[in-house]
Amino acid sequence: MPAASILPATAVLEMTGDCNHACIFCSCPWYAEQGICQTEMEISEWKELIEAYAKAGVINFCFTGGEALLKEGLAELIAFAAQVQARYIETVDGELKAWDAPPKLYLLSNGKAVTEEVLELCKTYNVALSLSLPGLETFEEHTRGGKDASHVLSLFRKAKEMGVTTTAGITVTAKNFHELQDTIALALIAGADRVLLNRFMPGGRGLANRELELTLEQVMEMPKLAEEILQKANRDGHIGTELPRCIVNPSDYEKLKVGTRCAAATDFFVVGPSGMLRVCNHSPIDLVQWRDFDTLRNHPYWRLFVHKAWTPKGCEGCSALGQTCDGGCREAAHVANGSPEAVDPVFRGASPIHFFYTSFTSK
Ligand code: SF4
Ligand code: SF4
Repeated sequence: MPAASILPATAVLEMTGDCNHACIFCSCPWYAEQGICQTEMEISEWKELIEAYAKAGVINFCFTGGEALLKEGLAELIAFAAQVQARYIETVDGELKAWDAPPKLYLLSNGKAVTEEVLELCKTYNVALSLSLPGLETFEEHTRGGKDASHVLSLFRKAKEMGVTTTAGITVTAKNFHELQDTIALALIAGADRVLLNRFMPGGRGLANRELELTLEQVMEMPKLAEEILQKANRDGHIGTELPRCIVNPSDYEKLKVGTRCAAATDFFVVGPSGMLRVCNHSPIDLVQWRDFDTLRNHPYWRLFVHKAWTPKGCEGCSALGQTCDGGCREAAHVANGSPEAVDPVFRGASPIHFFYTSFTSK
């Protein structure tokens, strides 16, 4: 889609660094040992940002954190965002069309502070709600602050009754892998409209909990397990953290959408609590202040992600590279192995190109 500016269509807004859970898998960069969460922007500045970015062609705003609901004034900001005019530009029947309309809004929460009033807010302003459900019997162990999964499941039920669209966000770890199918099934039975799976990736607080990393076999198994349940439930799902093409073939899945190309800086970008832009929520690299977004076009780190000008280690010579694959997650590679051109930690020491030849010669 042609763009009204350099900005991708989706902005992920990290409203606050505060959280009422202390999830052991959390990748927020400020929870890493050396991480810092700088001063937070006031709601008045967030309003300026939303207005400016909507004019610049951002048509999706996702409110997250930390825990977005801990940001004082969030309800007021959502009400504001729902009435701004965003610039939509699309090619319709071969012709470039532009029009203005309110942006689409999304709220990502761990559920703890979600009340009936929050669900009413979502209903009133047509906000799609995503609730984190990192396991059932392992919920408390994963969240360190959440009592049990029943509250989140009850919210899916209540949201369904009220007509609020919901997604169950499941971070898949070595500790909850055994209950992945049950977690997906119960979320859907409770009323979640769809599921979003994210494999655990080292980053933030998760850097101190690397025992949560899935084995390569588990990563390969994860989409199969999810597809089986989604087929039975006739619902859709999505894997949010991209996987290397040599370990997953997206066309094997009907209900589960699996990405193999990095979407950072092309499909979405992130604004941190202090107003600094990053390429992805997994990225610890602050680029420029939000008002200076136009200077991103000259920023080498932004350009690296926009142009995907990388040859990840171990992927040299692969014909999928740059076509259907970016060698897995470039920020996981950066955080775990020191560079956006390093090997994705998903390979756990195995050779990507070996996987490529194995997967393509065995078909
Ligand atoms: S070898 Fe690298 S580029 Fe090729 S499919 Fe595997 S991860 Fe992707
Ligand atoms: S950096 Fe990783 S998680 Fe972020 S969009 Fe790229 S592949 Fe996905």
